[in-house]
Amino acid sequence: MKETINSIRAALDELEQNQSTDEVERVLREFSAFELPQITTDVVDFLMPRLSTYEAAFYWYMFRHSILESGDQYVRTSVRRFQTDVVRSVRGRRHKGRQISEEQVRGSSRSLESIGAIRKEGEPGREGTLYKVLTPEEIEACREAMKARQTEEAQPVDVKTEVDHYNVRENRHEIFERDGYACVYCGKQLTRFTATLDHVTPVSVGGDNNYDNLVTACLSCNSKKSGKPLGDFLADHDPPP
Ligand SMILES: [Zn+2]
Repeated sequence: MKETINSIRAALDELEQNQSTDEVERVLREFSAFELPQITTDVVDFLMPRLSTYEAAFYWYMFRHSILESGDQYVRTSVRRFQTDVVRSVRGRRHKGRQISEEQVRGSSRSLESIGAIRKEGEPGREGTLYKVLTPEEIEACREAMKARQTEEAQPVDVKTEVDHYNVRENRHEIFERDGYACVYCGKQLTRFTATLDHVTPVSVGGDNNYDNLVTACLSCNSKKSGKPLGDFLADHDPPP
């Protein structure tokens, strides 16, 4: 009896250990509904031009089963799944067979890895290999193209302010950091994905995009304040007792 209990305990310990090592590897990041359209746009604009048809198909498949489905960046998949679930040609429908060779699948996932679009996390298991799906912001080649386009786009907008802290992404972070990633109106703690910038003096009444006219706000406060000048908003938002 005691032996049985001990062996069960050992098995449980082992199970727990395996699970925790798997979990430790994963840096979970919750994707909010607000950033998904931007990420998807970035994938189409900056990553897709770098991929072959197969690579693109695999990337979208993994994207759908990670970021879109579970909200984190991890997906376990296998060569076989790529062969049967991702690429279905006319012939494939008739034969229900695997249409793309194992070598082709491996080749495509290797080049996705070398671009940095996906990353193998650990060794292949029975359920396939665990991959991390990277977003364009995390892929170096895309990041550079994104930066180049941002500077291009920001220039014509930025006529009256010396430094645009609204349209240039790197500058936005300066504001968030200054405010400690907390909403200046309600104090809610935010992340770089949930934080928004609010114009203290609205653009509609001449507010500009410089450092002093921008504050960190949560989406709720930002949309409540909308085009109101600060004084009006505070009066509505926090009525005196
Ligand atoms: Zn707020």
